[in-house]
Order: sequence, then structure tokens, then C-alpha cells
Amino acid sequence: MKNEFMLKNCRLCARNCSVNRIEGKTGFCRSTDKLKIARAALHQWEEPCISGNRGSGTVFFTSCSLDCVFCQNHCISQENSGREISIKRLSEIFLELQDQKAHNINLVTPTHFVPQIIEAIKGARDMGLTLPVVYNTSSYDNIETIRALEGYVDIYLPDLKYYNDKYAIKYSKVKNYFNTASKAIEEMVRQTGKPVFDDKGMMKKGVIIRHMMLPGLLFDSKKVIDYIYNKYGDKVYISLMNQYTPYNKASQYPEINKKLSKKHYDGLINYALELGVKNGFIQEEGTCSESFIPPFDNTGV
Ligand code: SF4
Repeated sequence: MKNEFMLKNCRLCARNCSVNRIEGKTGFCRSTDKLKIARAALHQWEEPCISGNRGSGTVFFTSCSLDCVFCQNHCISQENSGREISIKRLSEIFLELQDQKAHNINLVTPTHFVPQIIEAIKGARDMGLTLPVVYNTSSYDNIETIRALEGYVDIYLPDLKYYNDKYAIKYSKVKNYFNTASKAIEEMVRQTGKPVFDDKGMMKKGVIIRHMMLPGLLFDSKKVIDYIYNKYGDKVYISLMNQYTPYNKASQYPEINKKLSKKHYDGLINYALELGVKNGFIQEEGTCSESFIPPFDNTGV
């Protein structure tokens, strides 16, 4: 009932549209109460403690509450590719990924479907789902949304994209990003506590905060690292990503219409090391290849 209410007056993300999605109304994310996904399959390109050697059981949800001009997944986040499915079908998909030996269930861009996802996790657990659940988000989640996930999510994989909101407004078309994201992450860390790994090094519980560096934003990226490390120390992992590629509408923004410079990425890594960050992940050169973007062709849907 509480979950249904979240869709009747939708404030799942900080767009706070307050629309009744059960009556078919839509807000910024263009989603009604019908679940929509574009791919459910094993995925190798997450952090090693998430992908392991068998892959992460990744479910890509259609739509997004952000509107990033450089989004590499724009055909599902902004152009509505995907297929509507029932909550029961989502439970079945989780179990199919478990049968394929996924290390975990990885929910990608899930914010606008949280009430339905909670029901699907409950259903799947009743039918035998035992895998950890990963919540992989832009972090533009209202804190109540994250609170509702307590007991259903084991690992949080939140982005912290920008420190200065002027970049969030310009490149992701979103207001009050840092304040919203930092509060959401605080609640995630409260829920999971320190990271826990199994004897094979796979994460079972914890928070990995991702930051994808954009060209020309080294100063802002350093602020993001400062914030995370000063607040959480080694209680979280930081994943510094260099996979930025000027997709989608980036050509309209000359300053980011280029690849990230190696010098800047190395500079950020050194900055983090000098600060004392020990729990981190970095990406190798070449991670910005298109081959890392899976086909959104309704596989596994
Ligand atoms: S999820 Fe966010 S963008 Fe979508 S309707 Fe709800 S408040 Fe609006």
C-alpha cells in the first residue's frame, strides 16, 4: 500500500513531479506505473567485485530522471526503447539471471521504478532468489526512496557526478543535484555500513561511489573526491571512471565534445592517492570503447 502511494503522488526523485502515475499520468521521466526494461543479461564491465568472472545480472530500466547531454545509453534513457513487463515477470527475470549464475542482480537506473522493484524482489525471494541486489543509480533519489529500499538492497552503486550544481544544470539538466545525491548516499552508507566481501573478493554488502570524470572538470572532480573521502574515509569504495565519450548531444557543447585527457585522469588518480584514498577502483585506458555499451535489444526481457 505504501509502495502504491509512492506512485500516486510521485516524488521518487528530486524532480518531485507529484503526478499520479497509477492513473497513467507522467512526469519528467515519462514513466507510468508500468515497468519497462530494455535488457536483462550477464554484464562484465562493472567493478571486479561486482562483475566477478561470471558477470553481474544486469537489468537496464527504460527512462531516467536525469537528461545528460552525453548519455551513452540515450536510446533507453531518453528515447524510450524497451518493453513493458509485469512485476511478476521482473521477479522471473531475477530468477533467470540467478540460474545463469550471475553474481548479483544489478538494477541500472532504477529510481523511477522503486515501488515495483521492491514488489518484484519480494516475489523473487519467495521463489528462491538468494543473490545480493545492487542498486545502480544517478543518485538523484529522494531520501525516502532510499529508505524504502532498506532490507531489499545489499550493495549501492551510486554516481556522484558533480560537486558544483552549475555543471549538473548544464550537462544533466537537473537542479539541486549535489545536495540530493549526497543525502541519498548518506542514507545508503547508513544502511550498509562498511563493505563486506566473500572469500572470493565479491562484494556482498556496501557502497561504491562512482565518479565519471568529464573533460575540463578536474577541479570539480577533485572536490567530489575531497567530499567523499573527508566524509566517509575508508567506509566506502570510490570508483574513478575514465570512460567518458562524447555521445548523444555532447557535440552541442564544444568544451566536452572530446575524449578525456589521460593527463587529467592520471592527475585525479594521483590526487586521490595523495589524499590517502585506499579503497578505490580505476579504469584502464581504452574503456571508452563503444564495445562496452551492450545492445539494448530486449535480450532477456
Ligand atoms: S520518478 Fe522523478 S521524474 Fe519520474 S515522475 Fe517521479 S518525480 Fe517525476
